Amino acid sequence: MPAPEGHCWLCREYGKLSKEHLPAEKAYNDCPRLLMKIVDINSRDGTLRWDPTQYSKGVWIRSLCERCNTKYGNRYVGSYVDLVRRVAERISDVHESHTIPISRVRNPFLILKQVMLQFVTANGDRFVGANDWVAPFIMERWNAEIPQNIAVYLFASNSPSGRNSGVSVHRDWNINKTRVVSEFTSWPLGTVISYDGELIDDRLSPIHHWTQYANKNQYADLRLRVNPVASEYPLDFRTWSEIRSSSTKEPDDLKNASEQDVEEMMEKVKKVSGETENWILSGHPNTVSRLRK
Ligand SMILES: [Zn+2]
Repeated sequence: MPAPEGHCWLCREYGKLSKEHLPAEKAYNDCPRLLMKIVDINSRDGTLRWDPTQYSKGVWIRSLCERCNTKYGNRYVGSYVDLVRRVAERISDVHESHTIPISRVRNPFLILKQVMLQFVTANGDRFVGANDWVAPFIMERWNAEIPQNIAVYLFASNSPSGRNSGVSVHRDWNINKTRVVSEFTSWPLGTVISYDGELIDDRLSPIHHWTQYANKNQYADLRLRVNPVASEYPLDFRTWSEIRSSSTKEPDDLKNASEQDVEEMMEKVKKVSGETENWILSGHPNTVSRLRK
């Protein structure tokens, strides 16, 4: 069967779309996997409906034209895979919430580019159109321009399952702040973009400053915290037992979302994702019912 045609999610040219592995095949994405996708949310109780897809040799999406897939894959994947393999070698010896130090990470600038290339596929076909800095950053070898409001992070994960949030918005009710983020995690590495500037969170290691390593043969030191990944919500680093024990009780001081809050969240996520209707407003299990009021 010939490959389906469409606009490449990165360069926008029309043609055959190739299979882009998410993450790269050599980053432990070459075995049978099951991808669960949220397709609906119950308007009464906030429960999610899932649609499973089976993959026999790693998860892939037809997102990039053959030229982009080959060119940028060759340029960036090797350095990313090197880092993933170094994390994999260490992670079984390190407990959750502890840190893995990794010295002399090779080609940090290229790893940052690969992280962004993955988000092109992970965040859907409208992401590049809605964020005009992304395509030049990936396609131009020496481009080191990331907007001030963008922050990118890594962490380690020993969870066998990963998660892909797309462009998500959530509200931290404790500090009354709305944040737009994307998370893509696949054992043993988690990647995060914040579209609202720095996240003050010691569970995440910033890498947006790796733009300073644009020259060849550079090295950076990295410390990655091992975070649990047990729910489907981005930046939710609770363990299974923490989720179970918190699922029935709501925080005492939880505030209801005002109409203005919800409006603000919708506007933010539309702007960054490029999606106008095909997304789901969700929250943590103990806040989603509140959001709907
Ligand atoms: Zn392309």
